[in-house]
Amino acid sequence: MLQGAEAYFEQAVSTLHLGDDMRALLLHPWRELTVAVPVRMDNGTFRVFTGYRVQHNAARGPYKGGVRYHPNADLDHTRALAMLMTWKGGLADIPFGGAKGGVVVNPGELSQSELNRLTRRYTNQIGHIIGVNRDIPAPDLGTNAQTMAWMMDAYGAVNGYTPGIVTGKPVELGGSLGREAAPGRGAALIGALAARDKGIDVTRASVAVQGFGQVGSWAARCIAEDGARVVALSDVHGGVHNSRGIDVPGAVEYYRANGRLTGLPNTEPISNDDLLAIECDILIPAAIEDVIHSGNADRIRARIVVEAANAPATLEGGRILEDRGIAVLPDILANAGGVIVSYFEWAQNIQEFRWDEQRVNQELRGFMNRAYGAVVEAMKRHSASHRTAAYSIAVARVERATRLRGFLGS
Ligand code: NAD
Repeated sequence: MLQGAEAYFEQAVSTLHLGDDMRALLLHPWRELTVAVPVRMDNGTFRVFTGYRVQHNAARGPYKGGVRYHPNADLDHTRALAMLMTWKGGLADIPFGGAKGGVVVNPGELSQSELNRLTRRYTNQIGHIIGVNRDIPAPDLGTNAQTMAWMMDAYGAVNGYTPGIVTGKPVELGGSLGREAAPGRGAALIGALAARDKGIDVTRASVAVQGFGQVGSWAARCIAEDGARVVALSDVHGGVHNSRGIDVPGAVEYYRANGRLTGLPNTEPISNDDLLAIECDILIPAAIEDVIHSGNADRIRARIVVEAANAPATLEGGRILEDRGIAVLPDILANAGGVIVSYFEWAQNIQEFRWDEQRVNQELRGFMNRAYGAVVEAMKRHSASHRTAAYSIAVARVERATRLRGFLGS
């Protein structure tokens, strides 16, 4: 993933003709912290987990990025995701830099009280480098609103009541209305805009979505509300298919009750691999990274791929799709709805004022439309793909802020 993130950055560096000094400055994370996270387990045993926080760049505003609890979390992964956050904030034109955190743990193996203790200790360990105007964590894979509530409480115990220290909190603690739906809602919006530009009427479009968690389930719901026909859905256990269209709200209810999609009435089973290869207008990978790669990119028959997950295509997989004329809407654009509404949440916390959901969704639509419009304009200017155009805009904005702040020393 780090290789991919750096390659996209290098492409933008050459499109923008940036010099070696700026290139080196923007490539290197500003700060990397590795911490021990000791936890007394419920059965009395003692374990020491490893945690990370990588702060990539804060030229445009405080560092911002999620915290991932995953057994495969490592420093390179965290570096790549931190860098993605810098470009995502730049492209969305919100006043945040990029960061990412992680703990090497399988959260499914820990009880709620163990997760609570782990989260508090991790927060204490990174407490001296985070802050409302320094670095603002958020949920990611394996973490959720409850994790953010624990982080907020642990930080507040030392620093006083500070709701703006994290985003993605429960609404009762200062979370924003509309935050949970935001990355999926934004991805659906980008899918509809890309369809329009490909001459596809979204109300006639067929859509397949891989992953039915926070991002995938909302992307499916929102694009179905726009009138599209959702023909396939999946989760880690497998997928379901109906070429006449799946009742998405019904699927949400079924998933809630059963913890899986397989067996959903009026659908046929389909594997995750076959779902990616299904003939449809819009494919939305919204689960994990690297699912589209050199071994399967040739099989993909969608006309548009909306990268709702972070890095769902490898470098090679993404290139094959682009060479085949498939429009690939890159992650830094497609799932930016999450960080955009995180920005709204942070702004609401600082103002001690709450927006209603309609305002959140309306502002989100405005930010997503502007980011998409800028990408289309840059594609024309640079004769570039969506991804290269998106990175060029983001890197140019971060470069400008970095230069204005005098980081280069001149
Ligand atoms: P989640 O844990 O809520 O859901 C993940 C979904 O993917 C689940 O349905 C799970 O069953 C499924 N899944 C897991 N492994 C799979 C596999 N091998 N094959 C198929 N399906 C699989 O996670 P999420 O918050 O929806 O995040 C999904 C992706 O979106 C991640 O890449 C994440 O980094 C990215 N993202 C999340 C947010 C956010 O705010 N949650 C914002 C931007 C980007």
